[in-house]
Amino acid sequence: RATYHPSSGWEGGLEPYGPLQLEPSAQVLNYGQSVFEGMKAQRSAKGNIVLFRPDENAARMMAGAERLSMPPPPADVFLDAVLSTVRANAHYVPPRGKGSLYLRPLLLGTGPILGLGPAPSYSLVVYAAAVGAYFKTGQLTPIDLVVEERFHRAAPGGMGGTKAAGNYSPVLVVQLAAKKSGYADVVYLDAKTDTYLEEVSSCNIFTVKGNVIKTPPLAGTILPGVTRKSVIQLARQLGYEVQEANVTVTEAMEADEIFTTGTAVVVSAVGSLTHRGQKKQFGEPGKPTKTALRIYEALTALQQEAGEDPFGWIVPVA
Ligand code: PMP
Repeated sequence: RATYHPSSGWEGGLEPYGPLQLEPSAQVLNYGQSVFEGMKAQRSAKGNIVLFRPDENAARMMAGAERLSMPPPPADVFLDAVLSTVRANAHYVPPRGKGSLYLRPLLLGTGPILGLGPAPSYSLVVYAAAVGAYFKTGQLTPIDLVVEERFHRAAPGGMGGTKAAGNYSPVLVVQLAAKKSGYADVVYLDAKTDTYLEEVSSCNIFTVKGNVIKTPPLAGTILPGVTRKSVIQLARQLGYEVQEANVTVTEAMEADEIFTTGTAVVVSAVGSLTHRGQKKQFGEPGKPTKTALRIYEALTALQQEAGEDPFGWIVPVA
């Protein structure tokens, strides 16, 4: 945990996991100055504990901090906090292929303030937890998604492009309703026209038609996923044509495949998409579709140092 005071800058160190002491007037509890990150440390094929592109998470947290009027933690402060958390919890990193150590950096406006304004002080807290597959059906079972018709996740000019905690509370009721109806999650549409795919509650979305892979562009309303960015590069290297372009629901319903990407979901094939009661099935039931599997395998090989790292994305935790 590192604390920021305007007079002394960032200071802190390792602490045992436990409650945070906050005053009731802490900014974050009243006005929601909170951005976070999600990362994974994994055991690699070379026997290292590795992180995947942590500089990207640092940059995204800095951008989110600016948007929420918080002091952006410098990349070295962020990386030091993450690396020392992994080192201190190295014994919790599962064996290769059995999961990972999920890391959750939080930037919170912890100082007290009564009137609406930015907090006088901040905390950067990183905690860790060993995790397995994100969806309860397991990593390679395709997920069933439904197009959300009532609620939007983000408005133009809002905070959809940041990992602000406030983006996630409005999603809970939607996600719960979808799960009750048998879906793993929902796909949000753009708030302006209700026509284009945006993303899923915790991952980005891609469609495949022939050799062309499409994913919604970063227009400020979807999260710039680290996995999304990496998959775009990897897929191009594998010979696909990748377009960052608007994807209509109709187009998605007519795609050959759909998959989602994220730190938690990795690459998850979509087994079906339901829109206005119409269900489109992709591939064989229970089996990941071809492109999704190919990209999943390429990405995880790279992330686990089972192949080359041509892009320099792997950071070993010494
Ligand atoms: N969209 C949303 C809304 C998310 O919460 C996440 C998870 N951080 C993603 C996309 C995927 O981002 P990343 O690949 O960086 O995990």
